[in-house]
Formats: sequence, structure tokens, C-alpha cells
Amino acid sequence: MLLPDGRLARRFARTVLLVLALVLVALRTAAVPAFDPVGVGPAARNASPKQLEAVQTELRSLQKQHAARLDAFAQDFADLGLQQESRQCRELATPPSTEVFRVQKPPKEKQPEIPLSVPEKERDLRVRFREAQSKYAADLYRLSRRALAAGYPSYAYGLVQEVVRQDTDHANARRILGYKLRNKEWVTPFAAEKLDKGFVWDDRFGWLRKQDVARYRAGQRVFLGHWMSADKEATIRRDFRHAWQVRTDHYLVHTDVSLERGVEIAKSLEQFHDFFMQTFAAFFTTPEQMAKLFQTSGPNSNLQIRRDPYDVDYFRTRQEYCDRLRSKIPQIDITNGLYFTGDRVAYFFVNPDPHEQDTLFHEATHQLFYENLRNDRMVAMDANFWIVEGIACYMESYRAENGQYSVGDPHHIRIQNARDRCVVDHYYVPLEKFAAMGMKEFQQSREIRKNYSQAAGLAHFFVQYDGGRYRDALIEHLAEIYHTTGRQRAIVKGLDELTGVPYSDLDRQYVEYMRALPAGGKQASAPSAINPPAPPAPGNQAAAGHAINQADAGR
Ligand SMILES: [Zn+2]
Repeated sequence: MLLPDGRLARRFARTVLLVLALVLVALRTAAVPAFDPVGVGPAARNASPKQLEAVQTELRSLQKQHAARLDAFAQDFADLGLQQESRQCRELATPPSTEVFRVQKPPKEKQPEIPLSVPEKERDLRVRFREAQSKYAADLYRLSRRALAAGYPSYAYGLVQEVVRQDTDHANARRILGYKLRNKEWVTPFAAEKLDKGFVWDDRFGWLRKQDVARYRAGQRVFLGHWMSADKEATIRRDFRHAWQVRTDHYLVHTDVSLERGVEIAKSLEQFHDFFMQTFAAFFTTPEQMAKLFQTSGPNSNLQIRRDPYDVDYFRTRQEYCDRLRSKIPQIDITNGLYFTGDRVAYFFVNPDPHEQDTLFHEATHQLFYENLRNDRMVAMDANFWIVEGIACYMESYRAENGQYSVGDPHHIRIQNARDRCVVDHYYVPLEKFAAMGMKEFQQSREIRKNYSQAAGLAHFFVQYDGGRYRDALIEHLAEIYHTTGRQRAIVKGLDELTGVPYSDLDRQYVEYMRALPAGGKQASAPSAINPPAPPAPGNQAAAGHAINQADAGR
């Protein structure tokens, strides 16, 4: 949650004092590349490193040959004055950067036929280029199957993403990524269903029945089957019980702000979801589940399909948000957003703070990790709580621009705070000790703000250090923390064990890493986020823990 202004901040400083506000420290992480040769991901039990090595060797050689071919195509296109195509070839020849996570969404439209009308020379070049791409993609896909057979499904999945980058119409790879072809467009199964039922997507109003679009654009609205003016509808919808509902592929947004704003929020969350699923694919599927994605027969199972949407409530005012949630979370007034595990809803309100979006992605991160399992459970109660917050802070730096998504900008306020704590203030709790803190200890610490900063910095480090060397270990760590039954203590391996690097070395590497980050943020002021304080005098430990956990698997 974010502290809104000085007045409130002072009020809470008085009230809260010991409790402590968890500062949402902004972490900026770099985005995950579509295919990262560094990460191999969790392996199946019977994995064969030798076979994987053979796959990697062949991949390197294929990549090299293909890059040379693309270079030649780039030149040929340039010679014909086709600069855009030339640039595209050069981009395809460059392996995705491991510095900053960037994921490019594949185009929606199937590639059109090359018109017969284009000059013969150009036509011939375009045909040859497509053939080359299609053949290279087929080779990559074949390698992905071999990686899978070798017991490395995450690695195989990364290859599949590269297949689609090279050949956007590769049918099997598209299916694995959760798309199906409907007419000439690659759509999700949910969108296909809506379209089949006669709905159309309107960028302002969301899914509408085709016959209603013109009336919506003319300012009319339908409520419970009755047509009325937009103003009249808005009056009704101001009562949250009648709030607008915006359903998209993975989200259901309730809001009393406006239909249009609800659609905007849902669209941002959908983009975030796509990015998140690609970045953390290995978290969401065990090697066995991921292997199923590759089955070419059987139901269209894939990572992106989920029966129930993620619920998000977005209120018109802070007051309304607080009034609505106070009975669940007594400390709601100091929050700027919340993911409540009790009802699995992420709550937000209209916040003029320029960092409103950061809060959205922070809570959305908590929601996506937590709701991966259906069972109610407490997460990181006994230890390892830092990463629950750290990874959410890191994801606050998520940005979508020009069709590209990224995370991890070192200038993001969260990362800058992390850097300053470490490099300027020399504040650092050694990882072994840091990781020993459970939720309560972490949230009730006097140093809660500093700990949030450190958590954000460590998340950045584990995702991005040395081209992503520890990324798989971190994802495995998160999986072990979240995949608990809730009844017994989770068995969670330490990051020293998962990375194979002693804590003392990780500590040293972290400090060096922070020192090497550039100083200075882009934004002038930092948002401060606060965790709800511990509930007063808990009746029993489990209930108390649950309350906090509910309040904030969020910040
Ligand atoms: Zn949080």
C-alpha cells in the first residue's frame, strides 16, 4: 500500500510506530528474454544433462548459420529499398537480450499471403525469406521436443517462444503458448468462445454484443436488459453492488469508476499476465505438467487457460475502498492496494499518485503466485518471507511500451532505494539471516522499510545477476514456498542449496551487484508502500498469521 500524503503519513506514523510500514520498495528488474540460453529451468527427475548438452550444441550451430542467412536477407531487402524488412531481419538475427527482460507479444494476425501483384524480384525474396524462417522455426521446434525428452521442459518452453518469434504462424508452438487460429487471427480460447457467441471486442467498452456497439458509441447503455443514457447508467453503477464488470481472458474487473476505466485496467492486467506467465513459466508448471503442454493430441491444455478469472475490485475513492474493507483489514487506511487471500480479490482505488500502476502490478503479482493453487494456505509464515514481497516489488517496475514489455529498469525507484540502502547506508542483513524471517518477523521489524528495499534488491539480483544465472533457482525457491499444502510446514530449500553457491558468496556478489548499478532515479519522488501492521493481540497464532497473510500476501 502507498502512503497518500504527509498528513496521513504523520497520522500513521503516530499510530503505527512499531508496526511498521512495509515500504514497497521499488525494484526494477530487467525483463526476461523470450529465449534465454543461460537458464535451463527445473528438470524432470530422469533428466539427462548429456542430451541437453547435445541440444544446446546443435542450437548454437543452428543459430549461427541462421544469423548469417538473416544477414544476407537483410542486405537483399535493403537493396530493394525495403528498409523495414531489412531491420526485421537484423532484429531476428539478434538473440533476445538477457540484460533486460523483454518479451514481445506475437502478432495477432496470421501472416497474409504475399500478393501476386508485387514485383517478381521482391516476391521471390519474400517467399525465400518465409521459407527460411519456417524451416528454422521447425528446427527449433524439433530441438524443443528433444529438450523435453531429455527432461528439461522449461528449457523446451523457452525454445517454443523463440519458435514463435521466428515464425509467428507455427501452429504447434502457438498452441503451446495458448493460442488458436480463428479465421485469420490467433486468439485465446476465451476470445474464440466470445466471438463464436456473436460478441466483438471494443477497445473502449470491452466485449459487446455486435448489435450493441453502435448504440454504445452513441452514448446509450444497457442495464439489466434496459437501454438508458450513459449518465443514468453511471448513477446506478455508483453503487458497487451494481458495478460494471469487465471480463477479459484472465480477469474479471468490478468497478464503479466507469466502464472505460475498467476496460483499461483489465487490458493492463492482461498484458501483465502474459508477461508474467512467460517470465515465470517454470513456476506454474511442474516438469510433468509442462510436458503435457507439448502433447499434440488431447485437450487444448496450456498455461494460459484457467477456468476462473482473477478478481479485481477497483473503487472510485479511497474512502469507499477503506469503508468496504475495514471489517476485513482493520489497518486498511494505511494501504493503497491489497490482495486479500481470504476472498482472492485484488483491491485498488483511483489514486492520483503517478505510481498507481506500480501498486497494481505489485498486488497482481501476489495474486498470480498465490492463486496458482486452489487450496487456502499460509505462505512463508516460518521463513523466507522476504521473497514474497521482494518479487512483488521487483515486478512493480513492469512497463509496457510500444508492444514490448519489460521489467527491471535499474532507475526504478524501488531498485534505486535498494541500491542506496546497500551502497550509501551500508545496510545489509546477510541473506541467511534475512531468509530466516517469517512473515511476522519481517513485517514487525523496526527496519521494515529497509528490509523491503533489501528484498527488492535481492529479487533483482536473483533474477538478473550474470545474465540470469540464478533465475531458475529463484523460481524453484518461489515454487517451493507457494506450493505448500498449508497444513504442514513447507519444505523449502535455501537459495544457497538451490544455486549451489554458499551464502557468504551470494552476500558478496549482491553487494558488488548493487555497487555496479547506476545511481539515480527517473522519478522525482518515491512512493512508499506500507504493509498492514500485525493485528492487535492475536487470539491465536494461526488466526493472527492468517489475518496478516490475507491482508498482504500484498505488500
Ligand atoms: Zn506486497
